[in-house]
Amino acid sequence: MTFTYTPIEEIPKIVAASKATFKTHRTQSLENRKEQLRALLRLVEENKVDLADAITKDLNRHSDFEIPTIITAVRDFIDNLENLTQPQKAAGVHEKDDCFVRLSPLGSVLIIGAWNFPIMLVLEPLAGAIAAGNTAVLKPSEVSVNSAQLLTRLVQKYMDPAVVSVINGGKDETTVLLQQRFDHIFYTGGTEVGRIVMQAAAKNLTPVTLELGGKCPAIVTDRVDLVKTAQRIAGWKTLNCGQVCLSVDYVLISKALEAPFIEAVQATWKHLFGDNPRTCATYPKIVSVRQTERLEKLLQSIKKENNIICGGETNVAERYVAPTIVTNVSLTDEVMKDEIFGPILPIVVCDDLNGAIDIINQGEHPLGLYLFSDDKDQQEQVLRETRSGAVCINDIACHFLNHSLPFGGVGNSGIGNYHGRYSIDTFSHKRAVMTRSIAHL
Ligand code: NAD
Repeated sequence: MTFTYTPIEEIPKIVAASKATFKTHRTQSLENRKEQLRALLRLVEENKVDLADAITKDLNRHSDFEIPTIITAVRDFIDNLENLTQPQKAAGVHEKDDCFVRLSPLGSVLIIGAWNFPIMLVLEPLAGAIAAGNTAVLKPSEVSVNSAQLLTRLVQKYMDPAVVSVINGGKDETTVLLQQRFDHIFYTGGTEVGRIVMQAAAKNLTPVTLELGGKCPAIVTDRVDLVKTAQRIAGWKTLNCGQVCLSVDYVLISKALEAPFIEAVQATWKHLFGDNPRTCATYPKIVSVRQTERLEKLLQSIKKENNIICGGETNVAERYVAPTIVTNVSLTDEVMKDEIFGPILPIVVCDDLNGAIDIINQGEHPLGLYLFSDDKDQQEQVLRETRSGAVCINDIACHFLNHSLPFGGVGNSGIGNYHGRYSIDTFSHKRAVMTRSIAHL
């Protein structure tokens, strides 16, 4: 397939046009914002099948919640825009003062997406950017080629080209893009590239939102149904083949629970994918040969050091990595160093909850932290003694789908957040306005 990158010399012109549109002030009116949001809704609703098809071609998976999530987010903005964007009254110093906080759009914002949810990670931030009255330049991931190509065509067809434009490319194009002066950069991707984005932004003092990754732990205790816990963890570990920023990276569990937990994870995978996931049509693929090779290398390191209980097979040409459980894992093993981003599940044995918390606190703050326990004291202890972008108790990643909650990381897993009203906050400047009565000075 030919995938045309945006010519480098066009990039500054596209960004200048986006900024020029913002300066006309027309994206500020609520009617204009709604018009663009409705166009975005049509873009998704009228092309659900093609969008799902592009995602399947890129990742061999169903679009799952990806498309419904975007639709819900855009509808919410359309239905609640007045409420979400209204000025917030503040107390005055003098009784005659009229004080409020006005949510002003930031200007022209750059949105850089990752390949694992190639449509959602571009269009959801876009919905927030438009709802807050900005213009936007989108840079989808070049790795998910089919999705990027379709997204480009649809944005050009449905959206006002002066308000939303798309730039395609890899490292070279993104480097030039990052040299332009935006009013905000919203980046989703790995932590290392996140550093590059932030360094580039610093030159212009451009604020950033960084939606990054990390190693999300799941603590499994004896205060909860073990089989249901294993089913949730196993299901999420293979959703998109583990290529999810919120996927469980590793499990912390006591020795006593380890064997029955593993048995239940294996049973779940067998139920989902049969005896041989490689021949199962619904088992997802790794996104690229390069990523498959990375996971293969990781598995080779595990073979030397640990016990592979099940899985371990790869086929690079087919972009296949089997769902794999690894035991006898220590914190210095390769598999515990970086985010796995694949269907490999290390099980780390620890004595008790204190031990699990201690292990989590030795690493960087994760994006998601999962605790399986109905015990309120244990829940409170984890909330008090750890840090993470979010905590989901007795499930995995579901907080992402609740747009009443902010979504984002902390420390190495990210800066800032979005979703619902938090997107409006992210893409707005909180401008203090104070009006005094001259007569009372
Ligand atoms: P990535 O960092 O490799 O790429 C993301 C984007 O950055 C792409 O658009 C790419 O073109 C661009 N890019 C890559 N290298 C660049 C460079 N040297 N200079 C400038 N731009 C560059 O990330 P990825 O592989 O697409 O995604 C996987 C990572 O994203 C994982 O770490 C995952 O945890 C994280 N992620 C986070 C979230 C979240 O919401 N927090 C969601 C999905 C993925």
